[in-house]
Amino acid sequence: MNWKDCVRKVTPYTPGEQPKKDGIIKLNTNENPYPPSPKVLSEDVEMKDLRKYPDPTIGDLVRSLSEYHGVKAEQIFVGVGSDDVLGMAFLTFFNSELPIAFPDISYSFYPVWAELFRIPVETVPLDEDFRIRIADYEGEKGGIVFPNPNAPTARLLPLSDVEALLKAHPECIVIVDEAYIDFAPEGSSALSLLDSFPNLLVVRTFSKSRSMAGMRIGYAIGSPELIGAMQAVKYSYNSYTLNRPSIIWGTRSVEDEAYFRETIGKITATRERFTKAAEEYHFHVIPSSANFVFASHENVPAKVIFETAREAGIYFRYFDQPRISDYLRITIGTDEEMDKVLELFRKMGL
Ligand SMILES: *Cc1c(COP(=O)(O)O)cnc(C)c1O
Repeated sequence: MNWKDCVRKVTPYTPGEQPKKDGIIKLNTNENPYPPSPKVLSEDVEMKDLRKYPDPTIGDLVRSLSEYHGVKAEQIFVGVGSDDVLGMAFLTFFNSELPIAFPDISYSFYPVWAELFRIPVETVPLDEDFRIRIADYEGEKGGIVFPNPNAPTARLLPLSDVEALLKAHPECIVIVDEAYIDFAPEGSSALSLLDSFPNLLVVRTFSKSRSMAGMRIGYAIGSPELIGAMQAVKYSYNSYTLNRPSIIWGTRSVEDEAYFRETIGKITATRERFTKAAEEYHFHVIPSSANFVFASHENVPAKVIFETAREAGIYFRYFDQPRISDYLRITIGTDEEMDKVLELFRKMGL
């Protein structure tokens, strides 16, 4: 026996680059270009309280989210970013011998958790327009997970399709990762299906629409039975997940609905304006319901545009992967930032 055989071998997730340099236009990790609500900082964190453990139940934040979404507190699980919540959900719910299904082009963390937790996987190809085709998910599954809107394609699966998928799969838990749903048209969220489907888990994050990627706050909403099962796993692993500042500032953010609506409105308006302009520079842009667009150029390879932009201090995300190597994922920044992107397209002669 060799100790090297006892080391777990995994291929980790590769997060987007976080450059240290100043003056970068950073459109590579779907962060919100606007700061969090000014009310977030208004109740400052008491230094003297930091010596104490935080509330393991994350009660204040759970209560404000339960009011906000009109669900019971027992239906909410809060974690350290939705990555933590999704990881916990995989560990809690995907324990079948049957493979779990997710799209071939989707959040690249899913296969990483599957490998880490030794969950068998079946990837289901998106159609040629990068749509999820629910008919392709036929047959019993060990679980289903997908982002809606999808990432990195930005495409929204209509709620009627989400419902049909749930109807077809009472045998397994279906996780809808709604990291970008706040940028989609009203009425797109699977939250409205919760009462009909006790096997539905909806996952949300403060990282994108609430401008708080740096705080690491995510949550899941589901039936009390699902949430209870996740709590049991959490308390078997690490009880004190969210720190005190995250609990206080997260709660403040939920309370400022006006600011939340205002920044989302700005981003979706910039997205529509940028999409039209990019099409004039001969980009094919997939209709986006998120705070980013997925686009390919008629004749210049995405990799060339990616590298040229990077040299000019503008960071996009490029995936050197089958099917999407002709595409760039561009986060929607401020109007000024997107104007600089268009200026670069003009200079490149696109
Ligand atoms: C950004 C993102 C997440 C993770 O967000 P957290 O910062 O961990 O809350 C989860 N799923 C998708 C599809 C994402 O794009």
